[in-house]
Amino acid sequence: MTIQLPQLPYAEDALAPYISAETVSFHYGKHHAGYVQKTNELIEGQPYADLPLEELIQYAHDNNLGLLFDHAAQIWNHTFFWNSLTVAEQPQSVPDSLRQLVDRDFGSVEALKAKLVRKGMTTFGSGWVWLILENNRLDVIKTQNAFTPLTNPNQTPLLCLDIWEHAYYLDVQNRRLEYLKNVTEHLLNWSFAAQNLENR
Ligand code: MN
Repeated sequence: MTIQLPQLPYAEDALAPYISAETVSFHYGKHHAGYVQKTNELIEGQPYADLPLEELIQYAHDNNLGLLFDHAAQIWNHTFFWNSLTVAEQPQSVPDSLRQLVDRDFGSVEALKAKLVRKGMTTFGSGWVWLILENNRLDVIKTQNAFTPLTNPNQTPLLCLDIWEHAYYLDVQNRRLEYLKNVTEHLLNWSFAAQNLENR
């Protein structure tokens, strides 16, 4: 069995003007696809080659297979990232079920967005910012490199932002703040977050 690159949930130009088609083309078609290709090379002929992706990530995590973990987790993180965004022309409001928790734990949706931006701005090096549910409370956390809340049984990821430079450098070069504001103001898929909350 080989791991497949999931389809993008929208066209490559669907996130423009906030994230360009060129960025999506490289990010999805080269980076995301590259993690799939490398993972398949690493698992070929191995006893864990037939594990579904989420189990493979946990296996690599638990057995200190660092190179495999990094590539497999990056496949999952990127798929989750694409799903965390929505078509630029169809911005989504926050469903009531999620909004109640956001108001309780952050004060407001605007305060949550500000916290996502702040965590993104204080990430040193490459990583991810996540909206998660932990101990029945929402929180915003960051993870370095390929690390993912998926392997923490106490954390349910709801949304994520890619803080690797490849996510924004073609569009805004070093201006990470502009990328973070564009994404949090215009592209977050709140329905996806609410769905993850319901399915936990
Ligand atoms: Mn990326």
